This record gives sequence, structure tokens and C-alpha cells, in this order.
Amino acid sequence: MTQIQQTQAREHPSSTQDVADIIMDAASAGHSLAITGNGTRCGFGNPVTASRAMALGGLDSVDFYDPEDLVIRVGAGLTLDALEAMLAAKGQYLPFEPPRYTGLYGTDGARSTVGGAVATALSGPRRILNGAVRDFVLGVEGVNGQGDIFKAGGRTMKNVTGYDLSKLLTGSCGTLAVLTAVTLKVLPAPRAEVTLIVPAQTLEEDAALFRTIRALPLGVGGLARRVSPSGQCEVLIRIEGTEPGVAGNRAVVEGLLQGREGARVVERTESAALWQDVRELTCLAPRADELVWRVNLPGTAMPAFVAEARRAGCISRFFVDWAGGIVFSTMRGVQPEVDVLRYRKMAEKIGAKAMLLRGPDAIRAQFGAFPPITAGLAALAGRTRAAFDPGGLLNPGRMTVQA
Ligand SMILES: Cc1cc2nc3c(=O)[nH]c(=O)nc-3n(C[C@H](O)[C@H](O)[C@H](O)COP(=O)(O)OP(=O)(O)OC[C@H]3O[C@@H](n4cnc5c(N)ncnc54)[C@H](O)[C@@H]3O)c2cc1C
Repeated sequence: MTQIQQTQAREHPSSTQDVADIIMDAASAGHSLAITGNGTRCGFGNPVTASRAMALGGLDSVDFYDPEDLVIRVGAGLTLDALEAMLAAKGQYLPFEPPRYTGLYGTDGARSTVGGAVATALSGPRRILNGAVRDFVLGVEGVNGQGDIFKAGGRTMKNVTGYDLSKLLTGSCGTLAVLTAVTLKVLPAPRAEVTLIVPAQTLEEDAALFRTIRALPLGVGGLARRVSPSGQCEVLIRIEGTEPGVAGNRAVVEGLLQGREGARVVERTESAALWQDVRELTCLAPRADELVWRVNLPGTAMPAFVAEARRAGCISRFFVDWAGGIVFSTMRGVQPEVDVLRYRKMAEKIGAKAMLLRGPDAIRAQFGAFPPITAGLAALAGRTRAAFDPGGLLNPGRMTVQA
């Protein structure tokens, strides 16, 4: 079998029943299926090895949108751009600020789909204020590996009896079922937004500042530390809400910054562009030959972790988001057998999770893009997969390293 690329996709269903038929045909013919939305994030996770492909971009319906109830149900193939434009017209937004990462993978961000965002469970900088993708998935419709169509969840937060399958499927990267529609909770978009840009100090001092700010209810929807395009290391603090709320909270944050000279403020459009750069990792500017890592870690452990990884040559460039809860970094001149394992080991030592966000297929296939899990968890994941997709048809290899 060969690895399927998006350009070779053969099946383009336009309804949930089409998806079920394609899966049943594949099952009876002994084929496996690579599942994509519009294929913009095929570089996420491990490479898939499948004999056929199915692209969900045609399932782009808007089934209902109830702005008063803050709920929308759309086909999994609808683009995030189309969804966000529709929400913006009503003054609302997706609270989890989904990254496209298409710059990272060299694909077209305008084609990133809602199904892909839910399947990869990627949350942007606002995660510290609003929560993660999973928190806003109210329901899903999907098809399992035997061609059974199912619905889970509903239109409200408290619509679950038994297992909450919507949460399980969020982040399952198409390995349990093909998502055909999702119901999402949305929120009113903030009316005002400012970002304070402050020269960085040491990682320890900046991590302490993050903790101080996060401990207060200041409507802070972004706390990051990056190197600016002009080479300055700086801390970014995004404050959002109503006009008077932002003004009041800004004054409080400025009070906390006493002693830090050189702060400046950018407002709405400029602020939004800046956070788009953070969200899409543009500020990391990874070169084509570099591995890109994402490490989820306790904010208190971040400064020592970064210092040790830099000393060991595991980090070339990095930036910090989520108030110190996540570190994105590049790795250059790699000897995979040494550096990939060494970096993972450093993360494990502090209970962090190191995901290889971008790297050559061969390295992701050998070491796995996802952080290793315990034997017990792997057995549980295997049983879950067997229950949804007993024939192992869907995205084989995406989340597990194949022997
Ligand atoms: C303020 C703040 C503080 C934080 N503090 C901490 C902290 O103290 N410690 C910490 O660890 N994290 C911390 N985090 C990070 C947070 O916990 C991570 O976002 C979370 O661990 C990601 O888990 P997930 O299941 O949502 O994975 P996702 O990022 O959504 O990953 C996608 C999916 O991949 C799956 N997956 C991952 N690994 C594997 C695998 N090996 N095999 C199969 N499937 C896999 C999961 O099922 C997951 O659904 C913090 C975040 C914030 C915002």
C-alpha cells in the first residue's frame, strides 16, 4: 500500500449516506481509507497508509444557526473561514480560536474545514480564557468503521446521558469515525480588544507575570512571549471584552507592569493580526528543514524546561503561549535517534507532553508524532478503536505507530 496524498483522493461524498456507502464498500473490498476534509493538515499526526481516500469538503451545509441560543450545526466540510464569516456577521465567534497551521504544512488556510478542526482538537491562544475545542462541541454526527451512521450529543451543554461520544471523537483524528456534521456552541465576540506589548525579561520573571495576571479576572484572552519580526523578545497581553471593561482591566494590568519600561499598546485590527501570527506559529518562522514541536507543560516548569532543552541543543527557536502552558519550538540539524528521544524524555521528566507538530514522514512514522502513552492507555485506546472501527479501516496509522 502507498501513502495517500490529498491529490489522489478518489471519493468525494456529498451526504452522510454517501459516506456510509463508501465505508461499507471499502469494508467489503478490504480497502482502508485515508480521511480528509480538504487535506490542509495531512502533516498533523503520523502519516496515514491507506489504499483509498475520502475527502469530506463536499459536506459543507449549514444545517441550522440559532444566534440567540449561541448554537450552530454545520457539515464537517464547511471551511472555518466560511463559518467564522457567518458568525462575525452576527457579532459572534468560535471561542477556541482554531489555528489552521497551513503555513506550517504549506497548504491553503482558506480551505481548512470545521471537521478537521474538531478531529485534531487544536485550540488557539484564547484557550486560557475560553477553554478548548472539546468544551464547545455539543454534538456530532458521524459514521463508524462499519458504515453505521450515528448521532451523539445535541444542542445544549447538558444533553448527554451515558458516554459523551462528542468529546471522545474530538481529537480522535478520524481514527474512530468519520465526522459528517458538528454542533458547536459559539459566543458573542468581544466588542473591544487591546494588546499590551512589553519587553520580555527572564523566562522566570515572565512566567511569574503570567501567573499574576491569570490569577485575576481581567478578561485576558492571550498571554504569550515571542520574538518580534524586528528581533525583540516581548510579552504579549491581550485584553478583551466591552469598551469600558477593557479600559478598566487595561489599567489594572498596567499597574501590574510597574517597573517594566517600554510598554506599547496596539488596538483592534493590529492586535488581531498580531494574535493571528501567534495562533498560526508565524512568529516561530520555522525553516523547511526544521522539526516543529509543541510541548504542553505546567507553566511553573516552563522556564527550567526551556533552559535545559536549549542547553542540550533540542530547541533552536521557541515561543511560549497559553500563559506558559505551551511551548512551540524548532529543532535543527537533527540526529533523530538522539534528539527526538532526548527531547521527549526531558518533557516526560516533568510530566509534559511533547508532540512533533511537523517533521518528515519518515521521522513521524518511526517515532510517532504524538507523545508516547502508557501500556494501559494504549490498550484502552486500542479497545476503543476496535469498538468503533473493528477492521482498522479509518486513517490507519494516524495516531499509532505501526509495526
Ligand atoms: C493554563 C494552562 C495550564 C496547563 N497546564 C498543564 C500542565 O500542568 N500539565 C500538562 O501536561 N498540560 C498542561 N496544559 C496543557 C493542556 O493540558 C493540554 O492542552 C492537554 O494536555 C492537551 O490534551 P488533549 O487531550 O486536549 O490533546 P490535544 O492537543 O487535543 O491532542 C489531540 C488528541 O490527540 C490524542 N492523543 C494525544 N496523544 C496521543 C497518543 N499518544 N496516542 C493516541 N492519541 C493521542 C488525544 O486523544 C487528543 O484528543 C495546560 C494548558 C493551559 C491552557
